[in-house]
Amino acid sequence: MNYQIVVGLEVHVELSTKSKIFCSCTTEFGGEPNTHVCPVCSGMPGVLPVLNKKVVDFAVRAGLATNCEITRFNKFDRKNYFYPDLPKAYQVSQLYLPICRNGKVEIEVDGVKKYIGIHEIHMEEDAGKLVHDPWDDCTLVDYNRCGVPLLEIVSEPDFRSAEEVVAYLTKLRETMMYLGVSDCKMQEGSMRADVNISVMPMGSTKFGTRTEMKNMNSFKAIYRAIKYESKRQIEVLEAGGVVTQETRRWDDNKDASFAMRSKENAQDYRYFPEPDLLPIEISEEWIEDAKRNMPELPEAKRARYISEFGLSEYDASVITAERQIAYLFEDATAICGKPKEVCNLVMGELMRLMSDTGTLAEELDIDPKKIADIIELIDSGKINRNVGKEVFEAVFKENVDPVKYVEEKGLMMLDDDSLVEDTIDEVISNNPKSIEDLKAGKDKAKGFLVGQTMKALKGKANPQTVNKILNEKLAKILK
Ligand code: ADP
Ligand code: MG
Ligand code: ZN
Repeated sequence: MNYQIVVGLEVHVELSTKSKIFCSCTTEFGGEPNTHVCPVCSGMPGVLPVLNKKVVDFAVRAGLATNCEITRFNKFDRKNYFYPDLPKAYQVSQLYLPICRNGKVEIEVDGVKKYIGIHEIHMEEDAGKLVHDPWDDCTLVDYNRCGVPLLEIVSEPDFRSAEEVVAYLTKLRETMMYLGVSDCKMQEGSMRADVNISVMPMGSTKFGTRTEMKNMNSFKAIYRAIKYESKRQIEVLEAGGVVTQETRRWDDNKDASFAMRSKENAQDYRYFPEPDLLPIEISEEWIEDAKRNMPELPEAKRARYISEFGLSEYDASVITAERQIAYLFEDATAICGKPKEVCNLVMGELMRLMSDTGTLAEELDIDPKKIADIIELIDSGKINRNVGKEVFEAVFKENVDPVKYVEEKGLMMLDDDSLVEDTIDEVISNNPKSIEDLKAGKDKAKGFLVGQTMKALKGKANPQTVNKILNEKLAKILK
């Protein structure tokens, strides 16, 4: 029998607010264990939470970008459970009236577009971290992450393949990063997904029993886990068994999942309205404001780069993959008006230097004016392309001023044709073998002569001038 895979995702995104959701502790990743804590986020009795407005702001932005309805009157609820990384023994979350509902996100796989429904987005607090210490065979707890704000984005069970899941996660990540609501660093766990998987006979409309794999933070692992887990469920069904609803743990090294515990239901958590926090009322004005300030999202940017700047689809998607790079491209283009040249510099030199030096997009600190200046220097014939690359590297590494740098280093192209002519004469007389080769029809020798001339002139000659003069001289010699 053929089976249909069904997947639904609960994606957790850590918000890039400066402080935590209910106290003023920093949200900064890492730090000495238990230094980013206070009585509120470490769950001391008698303390009261104060909601960080920025969290609501980010939730509204995320909801609008995913086509959700914003719940004008929404509330927090307590989700009770005991776990050593959660000292209060409850998590403040939203169950009954989440801030966003009924959204949708468009994805595309192999040229086919479809919508993935967003059931809801709610705000909640993160828990701490348990660190197992193999030396002393004990488990330590770090509360620094306790109270870091999260959005949980719950999809409908609309995915029908692992490819669709990866397309959605990629889009969601890109969107959240452009909105500035999260850095979505997978390796730091600031974006992670609970993956719910079931299978049903092809053509059926009744979903099968699902299993869930929690806290997955790599697209590759998610992709593999879906392939593996759906196959495992099919095998269970084919053997006449039943799939148990349970939480399973994915082991990426073993390429296998293992049962962890039977699945709990919402009732198990004894949710109840959070008594220490007021309901949140979101005004029309707030929403209108958020809409007005919504940045252009990557998909719209890509379409515009193609139609407005004539970039290829590939170039547009590379440039927009990280918002810092897209902004650098746009700002430099706005100054010099030469999108294709900016694009070449960014995709060639900038990306090469970033990968050579292990620089992340968010660490870039390049003045777009400097990129525009380099392009001007090349276009006006003051420097050639290779020198342009050298100048850009100096901008990247030492933040030099391109115009001054070119002047100080004497990198201007020579506009003294007689010097070029003299040099070519010299090169020709020093390389009789090349002339012999040219006479014998070996055209490659010409490139060698050009190279020698450029070398003698320290790369500062205009290659067109060199070629033109050399051609004239050779025409005479070879006549
Ligand atoms: P819970 O609150 O118990 O985790 P939900 O009904 O809220 O359960 O669903 C959680 C996630 O599981 C959602 O993303 C949903 O799309 C997904 N899901 C629900 N049923 C299935 C199913 N049969 N197969 C795959 N995913 C499912
Ligand atoms: Mg769940
Ligand atoms: Zn705190």
